[in-house]
Amino acid sequence: MLEKVGFIGLGAIGTPMARHVAQAFDTVVWNRTTAKAGAFAQDHGATAAATPRELVAACAVVITCLPTSQEVAAVIAAAGDAWHPGQLLIDATSGDPAGSRGNAATLAKRGVAFVDAPVSGGVSGAERGKLTVMLGGPEANVERARRYVAPYAGKIEHVGPVGAGHALKAINNALLALNIVAAGEGLAALVKLGVPAQRAVDVINASSGRSNVTENLIPERVITRAWPRTFSAALLDKDLGVALAVLEDAGVQSEIYPAVKRFYAEARKVLDAGADHVEVIKRVEVAAGGEIR
Ligand code: NDP
Repeated sequence: MLEKVGFIGLGAIGTPMARHVAQAFDTVVWNRTTAKAGAFAQDHGATAAATPRELVAACAVVITCLPTSQEVAAVIAAAGDAWHPGQLLIDATSGDPAGSRGNAATLAKRGVAFVDAPVSGGVSGAERGKLTVMLGGPEANVERARRYVAPYAGKIEHVGPVGAGHALKAINNALLALNIVAAGEGLAALVKLGVPAQRAVDVINASSGRSNVTENLIPERVITRAWPRTFSAALLDKDLGVALAVLEDAGVQSEIYPAVKRFYAEARKVLDAGADHVEVIKRVEVAAGGEIR
């Protein structure tokens, strides 16, 4: 019999990830808004489960891609005694290390292995099957997880014990957030001084201050005024909160991370609920009194 893989969470990034999984494995999907799961199953030759419990009962391996570790815990609980020994949960959520350790402990009581497996590379990376996957867990579990994340991965790295993947992902995303704010403020100043934004990023991208933000996000989303919505400001704000907890747990004092967290929290107050993570630059523009063009 074919080994079934379950995928829970068909959101902005979960959907293209699940598409790759469905091409490689006999796949069962579940989504809170069940119509999305039905449509996905029809389009991609998967099966839609009516409940997390039904999915868990049918699958050897389950992948979750939900907003936070709390929703993962809720889904684990909802599946109840459908969990059975020998199963593996691969959590692709950008979760938090403490939440992951709790979820791993809950599952261990039922003989189920847990690996945290957050991803980076955005929706476009997911569509191309080129995400970076950061695995946290014991060696044997991580080795087992590799073949199930491979369909959507460009790079797979075992980074440490359970929770280490989520810690690394949070720090990565905090760096993304601070680059967005720093690039936005610097470019707002340059534009006011008469340097066109595209010329400024062209020079920065051939210099030492370049980043994914200056190379891709500012030219494609800000200068064009396209503002696509691929990854919400709310989710990046959540990641900043996780990063602060990671620093605190490690006993590392920070000046910059709390400032960026405050910036995101304030910016979200003036943006609508669905705003993209790059749209916080609109707050910079309002404060500066001019657009970054
Ligand atoms: P979305 O907001 O687009 O999707 C969230 C998914 O979680 C949906 O399937 C939603 O279901 C489901 N969900 C939300 N709340 C609950 C709940 N209480 N119970 C069950 N299901 C729930 O998020 P993304 O797909 O963008 O992100 C998912 C994870 O991946 C997050 O942790 C995010 O930080 C991370 N990530 C996202 C990236 C991106 O570029 N978008 C990049 C890298 C990581 P429903 O359809 O019913 O709303």
